Amino acid sequence: MKVDIFTLKKQYENLKGELRGPIENVMSSGAFILGEDVGFFEKEFAEYCGVKYGIGVNSGTDALFLACLACGIGKDDEVITPAYTYIATSLGISMAGAKPVFVDTEEKTYSIDVSKIEKAITKKTKAILLVHLYGHPADMDPVIQISQKYKLKVIEDCAQAHGALYKNKKVGSFRDAACFSFYPTKNLGAFGDAGMVLTNSEEIKDKMVLLHDYGRKGRYENIIKGYNSRLDTLQAAILRVKLKHLDKWNEKRRKNASLYTKLFREAKLDIVLPYEAEYAKHVYHQYTVRVKNRKDVMEKLANEGVRTLIHYPIPVHLQECYKELKHKKGDFPIAEKCCEEIMSLPMYPELTEEEIRYVVNTFSKII
Ligand SMILES: *Cc1c(COP(=O)(O)O)cnc(C)c1O
Repeated sequence: MKVDIFTLKKQYENLKGELRGPIENVMSSGAFILGEDVGFFEKEFAEYCGVKYGIGVNSGTDALFLACLACGIGKDDEVITPAYTYIATSLGISMAGAKPVFVDTEEKTYSIDVSKIEKAITKKTKAILLVHLYGHPADMDPVIQISQKYKLKVIEDCAQAHGALYKNKKVGSFRDAACFSFYPTKNLGAFGDAGMVLTNSEEIKDKMVLLHDYGRKGRYENIIKGYNSRLDTLQAAILRVKLKHLDKWNEKRRKNASLYTKLFREAKLDIVLPYEAEYAKHVYHQYTVRVKNRKDVMEKLANEGVRTLIHYPIPVHLQECYKELKHKKGDFPIAEKCCEEIMSLPMYPELTEEEIRYVVNTFSKII
């Protein structure tokens, strides 16, 4: 048996019929840039998250970059962010000209360790940019308290957590701005690159509208030096169709995760399973486990047809691209430990019970 870590083929088979009409509408309208589906999707996705405004952009990375700019972050500013995340989180900060200041990870949820944020704050700190990693929400209440105490902006990186809940409230709805990616493999994915910034602030919305479209006010009247980072009409039309399925897909991910967890517990293996905090509704963008002899386990699983991946092998502070920050091994020990032990198992809504049982059985045999 072969179990892929991820596939979009089954999802496409199921959606083909439903997608054809909306795609053809865009094609025949010819309105490929900022066509009406963009505005509709911005409104629908913002509503889904319980937020006032949505601004579609090119990618999740651009969402982070432009949200930083729209929050007034730039040169000489510092932004507090987790050392353990996908590189794009801190690249967004760097693209805005600011300096990412890393904070270690909380070992159970893999989110930023909120107890270590205050120590990282300096006079230059402008914002906390946190991540709901793997689909598990970060602990928002303490972050918001700290942000109020020090007058910092809070930006959420929701690229892996569409539909996740923190205390029954959708991630992306908490503070100044939230950034989503619709990269094809995300819980809500386009047929190419796409992203969005959500905000309840009219001021940040107005800045985003300018920033993502050349700083244009009228047709040929430009009031700031903006960027070209728009959500394609075609992607918006596709995402509108897919948004209707997101809750059902997330429920399937959760069902798959609970079957994995039940079977792993029964097998009594010496591995660390995903955790769901009391405040959280996890949407399992990834189902990650931690093992001591990871390389060996991954190879043996691959030989039995089970593909796994490492999200992520190198913590951000030790990436070559951040060598100017002069971090060294040992600076963020939990993040480093997670990077050494973590592995992601096959996870997507269409995964079958038989496939999950096969993964766990194979695991039990080799570990
Ligand atoms: C995917 C991802 C991004 C970047 O999104 P793109 O659309 O690929 O640019 C940012 N942050 C996190 C946590 C991600 O997983």
